This record gives sequence, structure tokens and C-alpha cells, in this order.
Amino acid sequence: MKVLKFGGTSVGSVKSILSLKHIVENEARRQPIVVVVSALGGITDKLLSTAQQAVSGNEAWKISFEEMVDRHHKMIDTIITNTIDREDLFNKVDALFEQLRSIYFGVYLIRDLSRKTQDAIVSYGERLSSNIVSSMVRGSMWRDSREFIKTEFAHGKNTLDSVLTNKLVRDAFAELPRVTILPGFISCDRDTGETTNLGRGGSDYTAALVAAALNAEVLEIWTDVDGFMTADPKVIRSAYTIDELSYVEAMELCNFGAKVIYPPTIYPVCIKNIPIRVKNTFNPEGRGTIIKGKVENDSKAIRGISSIKGTTLITVSGLSMVGVIGVNRRIFTALADHGISVFLVSQASSENSTSIGV
Ligand code: ADP
Ligand code: ASP
Ligand code: MG
Repeated sequence: MKVLKFGGTSVGSVKSILSLKHIVENEARRQPIVVVVSALGGITDKLLSTAQQAVSGNEAWKISFEEMVDRHHKMIDTIITNTIDREDLFNKVDALFEQLRSIYFGVYLIRDLSRKTQDAIVSYGERLSSNIVSSMVRGSMWRDSREFIKTEFAHGKNTLDSVLTNKLVRDAFAELPRVTILPGFISCDRDTGETTNLGRGGSDYTAALVAAALNAEVLEIWTDVDGFMTADPKVIRSAYTIDELSYVEAMELCNFGAKVIYPPTIYPVCIKNIPIRVKNTFNPEGRGTIIKGKVENDSKAIRGISSIKGTTLITVSGLSMVGVIGVNRRIFTALADHGISVFLVSQASSENSTSIGV
């Protein structure tokens, strides 16, 4: 079996969603597949900004809300041609929008937006898009990822309960339908049953967790570029597609800002030795990139370049640091006491300076 994940741009327009349908229906003729989808491009940001409008008492939240309804309605009107299917889908989508409207109204009335409410709001993006895709793909079955992607609340944030998730995914897919459609990104707190998520960009991770639990032959990440490239093509125009990457190289580039894959995605498939293929929904014939354990053609000294915004390099220097035991311990303790995470460290061999990336 295969797992295919389609990102926001791949479900963002009529053209891309029709390409998705073509890719998925072709694949499903060959083997059972699980398809993970993101929210329509830009909707996650809009769900969050509308919540901010509501909590600050800005009536414009109603306009933003209607814009989201309108965008989904227009999409359905164009792509679902069968009248009964369309009616059925409109009922599902409008029921979800009614719930969402009530939540926003509650936020607006009491001017309160807790983490829990925000997580509930942001989940509607994937719940809506996956229902649309499911209605469009012939013979597909829709499942709610919150039944088996479970998180726990620890150290002030939601983290995956990987053991429980792995077991629940296997149970849920003991019998594998020809095509299953899943909302990416969303999850459920194992103790409280509340809706949570895997973090921004987290649909890639949903797909990887399912692929790993079901021992998929391959995990395919379908996006808006021709594969994993030597740099972000939006920043460096001459960037080109890399044919093959090792898991470690991909992990390193993703952790340092190559947003084409959400960083936690690689580990679950890497330990199962499941290859990741990065493909372009707008150019399905393109070769894309394969990420796997061992790369045959690795003659190039540099694989790629990535960058992260919003970082600072702090350099602590002075001759009085030379040979003094415990200086670095003091620096790191001060940072840890303030909850600051360090992603890069370098110390001069003379010990007179330590640079820290935060
Ligand atoms: P999706 O909605 O499909 O998840 P994302 O926007 O999360 O798509 O990721 C795809 C984007 O990642 C590309 O449009 C590109 O601008 C950006 N990107 C950053 N670094 C790279 C890279 N090294 N290779 C390819 N794309 C990259
Ligand atoms: N829709 C979510 C986001 O925009 C998750 C994803 O696209 O992977 O972050
Ligand atoms: Mg992404």
C-alpha cells in the first residue's frame, strides 16, 4: 500500500484538486492507498486570523467567516457535478460551518480565545477539505484522523503518543479499503478527548505516522514544487530538484528551514526504511525526489542550502573565559532558566568565545 499526502496548494484551486483526483484514481487502480489532505491553501491562516478578529471584538470576523464559506461553496459547485453527491456534501460542509460559526460567535461574545478553542477552530480546515476530496474521489472512504492520531499534554504542549497512535492506526486499518481519505494535521488528546493538532505543517507528519504504522511501500508528499530542491525556489530562482537524498540529509535541511517537509515527518518512516517521494501535483510526470537510507550518487559535496528566519547568534567572548571550567554551563543554565532553546553551538578552540544560535 501507499500513503499520499496533498498539501494546501494541491487542494487550493479547481485545477490542482482535479489533478489530485486524477493522480489518486490512477494510483488506486494499482494498490490500496491512504490519502492525507491539508486544508485549502491559506485557510489555516484565515481560520486563525478570524479568531483574532472575533476575540478582539472586531465585527469583521463575520465577513472573514463568510469569505471562507464562499470559497468552499464555490469549489464544491465547480468540482462536484453529480447533483445528489453535491447536495450530500453541501449538507456535511454546512453542518461543519454552522458549528464553526457558533464557536466564533462564542469567542466574540466572551472575548476569550483559549488554546483549546483555537485548536478546535483550526481543525475545521482539514475537516472541510477532506470531506470535499472524499466526495470527489470515486469509491473513497472518509475517516476521522482524530480516532487514531493521539496526543498527550506534556511540558506545556501537545506531543504525539506514538505507541498508542501506532496501535490505533493498525487497528483502524486492519482491513484496508481501496482509497481512504484522511484529514491531516488534526489529532485528539488521549486523556480528555479534545481536538488537538500536530503543529503547523503537520499534515506531512500525519501521513508519515500512517505510512509507518501500516508498513507502506512508499510515502508520497505531493506539493507545489518539482521535489526537494537545492534551495527554496521562492528565494533562489536557480534552485534545481535533487534526485536523491538520504534521510539524514533531508532531516538536516528540513530542521534548518526547508519547509517542503515538516521536520518530525522523517523519523517515523526512516526507522521503518520506508522511502519518501516528493512530487509536484502540478507536474505529476516529473521525477521528483526520493529520500531513502542510502544514496548511490552522492558525489556532490553540498546537497542544498536552507535558511531560517527569526534567529539570533549570540557570541559570548572575553579572554577571562579561557580555561575557566563551567563557563558554558553558566551560559546554558541562564538560557534554560528562561526557556530558550538552542539550535546551534560553536566554541573557539582557544575557549575565548562561544557562539550560540537561538
Ligand atoms: P504544502 O502546502 O504542499 O505542504 P509547503 O508550502 O509546506 O507546501 O511546502 C512547499 C514549499 O516549500 C515550496 O513552495 C517552497 O517554496 C518551499 N521550500 C523551502 N525550501 C525548499 C526546498 N529545499 N525544496 C523545495 N521547496 C522548498
Ligand atoms: N493546514 C495546516 C497548516 O497550514 C497543516 C498543513 O498544511 O500541513 O499548517
Ligand atoms: Mg507543508
